Amino acid sequence: MTTPTAIAVDGVLVVGGGYAGVHAARSVIRAGRRAFIIDPTGRHDFVTRLAAVAGGTAPESDASASLSDFSDDVIVGSMASIVDGAVTLNDGRTFTADAVVVTAGAVPLAPSIEGLDFALPLRTAADASRLRAKIDIASSVVIVGGGATGVQLAGAVAAKHRSVAVTLMDGAQTLLAGLGAATGGDAARILGDRGVDVRLGSDVDEIGEGSVNVAGDMFEGLPVWAAGYTARADDFGFPVERSGRIDVDQFLRVRGWSRTFAAGDVAAHRDAQGRELPMSAQIAVQAGEVAGRNALRLLRGDTLDRARLSHRGWVLDLGGFRGLAEFGPVTLSAPFLDLVPPVLHWAIDVKHLIETRGLGGLSDAPS
Ligand SMILES: Cc1cc2nc3c(=O)[nH]c(=O)nc-3n(C[C@H](O)[C@H](O)[C@H](O)COP(=O)(O)OP(=O)(O)OC[C@H]3O[C@@H](n4cnc5c(N)ncnc54)[C@H](O)[C@@H]3O)c2cc1C
Repeated sequence: MTTPTAIAVDGVLVVGGGYAGVHAARSVIRAGRRAFIIDPTGRHDFVTRLAAVAGGTAPESDASASLSDFSDDVIVGSMASIVDGAVTLNDGRTFTADAVVVTAGAVPLAPSIEGLDFALPLRTAADASRLRAKIDIASSVVIVGGGATGVQLAGAVAAKHRSVAVTLMDGAQTLLAGLGAATGGDAARILGDRGVDVRLGSDVDEIGEGSVNVAGDMFEGLPVWAAGYTARADDFGFPVERSGRIDVDQFLRVRGWSRTFAAGDVAAHRDAQGRELPMSAQIAVQAGEVAGRNALRLLRGDTLDRARLSHRGWVLDLGGFRGLAEFGPVTLSAPFLDLVPPVLHWAIDVKHLIETRGLGGLSDAPS
């Protein structure tokens, strides 16, 4: 049996075609070099719109677009293993490059809860389509996880499907625990006005095909799992921080490696004060741009740029023309102010489309 030869690409190899991936590729392509994007589906999922797609307040066409709209060089496949500068796919092909950017995102957390597999996840366009079809025929839905995903999904389902009973549960004592207490309270108010049954301090014991059990109480409905995400980067042999995200240096290079950078949810990014930044599209876009630029500088033999990443705030769309935004001490979530964030959320999604696909992307702008 002969060993397959590695395929050397002339440019930057980008693993993952999500927010960090397309922005890394864009930095490279705009400088006149080729960016080869490896992705399992060959499509870019608009993850920030998936709650609206699954809940039915946005059309299915908002969920994803072909990566060939972003780059001429798309390789359909999934990274199975990596060493510095060489990526092997699950079909056995190995690609090598002088600079690689890993942006493989994150997957839903999977704690050991009995029956967890019965709960539907929401991370990819395929997840959103599956969930949308199930919600369309459901009479009740039980969403586990009161973070950004669960809150946006509960809002969308309740806005679109008035006859569906929606329960949103979380183990914490507030919704949106990573945000300010007032914002979590306003989320509960908006969802409560729409008839969502918000259950806080509810740790799930067991999940069934059509039920979720909490401390002996059974909540009937389609179970949905929205209780956080993990990078699982150690599965690929990367050096990781305690969070499971890749340990990167100030240039977003994998620590101790020379030719491989990492950006987005998969990597542990920090701000100027050394605080770990949240998994967000906004950080993934910033980090993807820096990693793409540094990959290019490495190819050219230039000195690398230090990453200066910052978390500017959250903008969440709860459907039904209501939402929440928080920029440091400034919040837009009180009654009437909560009309503004859905417009901002839409504007951010359109900006992402224009930046990555040019003005031509506007024909596919989210509705
Ligand atoms: C429902 C939902 C709503 C959200 N809403 C917001 C919001 O409103 N605002 C906000 O800022 N953030 C939001 N987030 C978080 C945000 O979407 C993520 O932080 C962002 O997508 C991270 O970008 P990324 O490029 O790191 O990962 P992703 O966008 O997930 O992209 C990762 C890519 O890597 C590919 N990939 C995975 N494994 C492999 C492999 N082995 N080989 C090759 N490719 C691989 C995937 O197919 C995918 O295309 C939301 C998240 C969810 C789930």
